[in-house]
Amino acid sequence: MFKQGEGLYDMCLLGNDKVSEEGFMENLTTRFNTRNIYTYIGEQVVSVNPFCYLDMYSEATMDEYIGRAMYEVSPHIYALADDTYRELMSSKENQCVLITGESGAGKTEASKIFMQYIAYISSSSSMAGDIKDKLLKSNPILEAFGNATTLRNNNSSRFGKYMEIQFDYGGAPVGGRISQYLLEKSRVVTRGEGERSFHVFYQLLSQTGRLAALSLDADPSAYNYLACSGLYSVPGIRDAADFKEMENAMRVLGWAKADLDNCMRILAAILHLGNLDFEPDARASADLNTDCVAVSNPQLLAIVADLLQVDYGALESALKSRSISSGASARQSHIMVPLDLDQAYFTRDALCKGLYAALFEWVVDRINLNIQASASNASEVVIGVLDIYGFEIMELNSFEQFCINYCNEKLQQLFINKVLKSEQAEYAAEGIAWTEIDYFDNEPIISMIEGKGRAQPGIIPLLDEACLVGRNTPVTVVEKFAGSLSASAHFDATVGEPEEFVIDHYAGAVMYNTGSFLFKNKDTFFDDLVMALMTSANSMVVEMFTPKASAGGGGGRGRGGPSSSAGGSRFGSGRGRQGAGGGKTRPKTAGYKFKTSVCELIEKLDACTPHYIRCIKSNDEKRANYLDAERVRHQIVYLNLVETVRVRRAGFCNRQPYERFLWRYKMISPQTWPVWRGSPRDGVVAILDHIGVDRSEYELGRTKLFIKDAPTFMLVEQRRIE
Ligand code: ATP
Ligand code: MG
Repeated sequence: MFKQGEGLYDMCLLGNDKVSEEGFMENLTTRFNTRNIYTYIGEQVVSVNPFCYLDMYSEATMDEYIGRAMYEVSPHIYALADDTYRELMSSKENQCVLITGESGAGKTEASKIFMQYIAYISSSSSMAGDIKDKLLKSNPILEAFGNATTLRNNNSSRFGKYMEIQFDYGGAPVGGRISQYLLEKSRVVTRGEGERSFHVFYQLLSQTGRLAALSLDADPSAYNYLACSGLYSVPGIRDAADFKEMENAMRVLGWAKADLDNCMRILAAILHLGNLDFEPDARASADLNTDCVAVSNPQLLAIVADLLQVDYGALESALKSRSISSGASARQSHIMVPLDLDQAYFTRDALCKGLYAALFEWVVDRINLNIQASASNASEVVIGVLDIYGFEIMELNSFEQFCINYCNEKLQQLFINKVLKSEQAEYAAEGIAWTEIDYFDNEPIISMIEGKGRAQPGIIPLLDEACLVGRNTPVTVVEKFAGSLSASAHFDATVGEPEEFVIDHYAGAVMYNTGSFLFKNKDTFFDDLVMALMTSANSMVVEMFTPKASAGGGGGRGRGGPSSSAGGSRFGSGRGRQGAGGGKTRPKTAGYKFKTSVCELIEKLDACTPHYIRCIKSNDEKRANYLDAERVRHQIVYLNLVETVRVRRAGFCNRQPYERFLWRYKMISPQTWPVWRGSPRDGVVAILDHIGVDRSEYELGRTKLFIKDAPTFMLVEQRRIE
């Protein structure tokens, strides 16, 4: 374990004078330079992304970790996975693994390494083998549809994922459940320069044999939706091979060939729609005395209608005009209002985003059907793995970045509550002498975003109000925020353009541009488009747009199902006719739904025993084996890692209730073996005295023994085995 020159495997073993940013950095760098990318803080794993393959993820390596205590073997995600599984088995309580870190820090890779280990060691029957295989195979499908190349990460998750693996009481996996959070659907139509759309589009175009039937060209630059960001192929991403892997995964999960074909038809339809053009229609404009548009390339729209198997006329009409209801509700009639050029393009893009989001949700639901446990296995315990998009700062930060970063704030808060606050609370409860440790608490940032009733406005409710009441613009939205939040130390609307504002997040200041906040929050998907899609002769398209029996609770349409796609609104909330009054109940906005689903997730995580993997991005250039000290130091600071060491250290390397300690170690001392008749606490002291542990090495709490250093604890363990 203590190999010369490789640094300390646990930051809690740093000497008193070394528990600082410098000491932490020094040890982390030493380890990174000797290819030790994992280091512990107590039971947490800190992982530094090496950006290159390391030979440490084989079955032979996994074998070394089975049933071993974390401090017996080199730090690894396998050790954390083993510990999680064992705790699940011994306590029969739900466990969760929280993987945090910024975009490109290695969360998704860590989640896969974790899952692989669990699949490898959990008990095997043929049924379990089948489920394990399916759980692992869900990844290539989800990544094809939900990941994309960004400036930060070649394989960036553009959705949040919480995957629960269900086990029976014998420890065999019996099923799984995936919840997804807010897919960044705007990426389908636009994105920053030098980034890509979702991988699956490029994968499809690499399949030359499939293209003719879809009227597609193999050249991605032929499609406006792909050409707009100017990046097509990415080093290290093998689109053609990834397509085959996805195809194979679908087979393992039990998809019919037609399912993949249908997915590809929808993707092709989206690519074609991006090339659809509109032009002013002079005759119709003169007839109706208002701006009207016509489709410039009707042959393309015919291909789209054919791919989606929908009625051409209904689709064309939904792209050129919008029906608006008029008159009192009893005698409502609909009139068709023509769209102008901008509105027609806007509607086209809305259709593509809506189609893609619905497709993604369909994919997740389908996977969930494939992996769900049978009813007879209902009384299960779960291990949940959270891999959510990391904190990010883009060139232009829009509503999506706002949601992503808010979600990261919530996770950071959960971490603070679970680790820093609860640890200190335990010392107080046990009566252990202890100096409070200061840490940055992000509670004020979260309150500023969420608000609390009328008394305390917040960004999400203020934005909702701006969407629903009055005629707001990006500038008035910022004014509204500033009017209520300017007193907050974490908000600033005085820098940048009038439509920009800054939130000082736990991980850094981010300037948001509200240019599209309003319509993204309203998330409108027009009824006319849904009606047009419902004319489809393709049952999958109809299924995608048919309201599901809701599982209830907060999400509105498009949620529910066996497992549920949380937070991603399939149709949008303001679904309905623009200009129509709407009912009494306020439509739920994208922001509101996202907040609700994130809060539900946090509640669920809070009820599990947590395990942590804290991922650190070594550099911004995706460069192999290179640690950018300043970038790493910044992450150590905002992840509160040094504070975590302080708390854990004062936090003692090990703590156990007296009864448990006595039970496990009573054979060590003839005084306590075979029967000890005194109090458990005195028994524990008798054992420690027998071994010769110095009194300064431990503290005696009300109900628990606290051992200060790992070597002392290892000595006790050692004596037990002898
Ligand atoms: P995002 O929030 O953008 O989804 P992420 O934290 O999930 O980011 P990953 O996709 O897991 O980041 O990692 C980014 C890239 O870094 C990977 O594609 C891989 O190239 C590399 N990488 C991550 N972890 C490891 C590892 N343990 N070993 C080798 N390379 C790694
Ligand atoms: Mg990821």
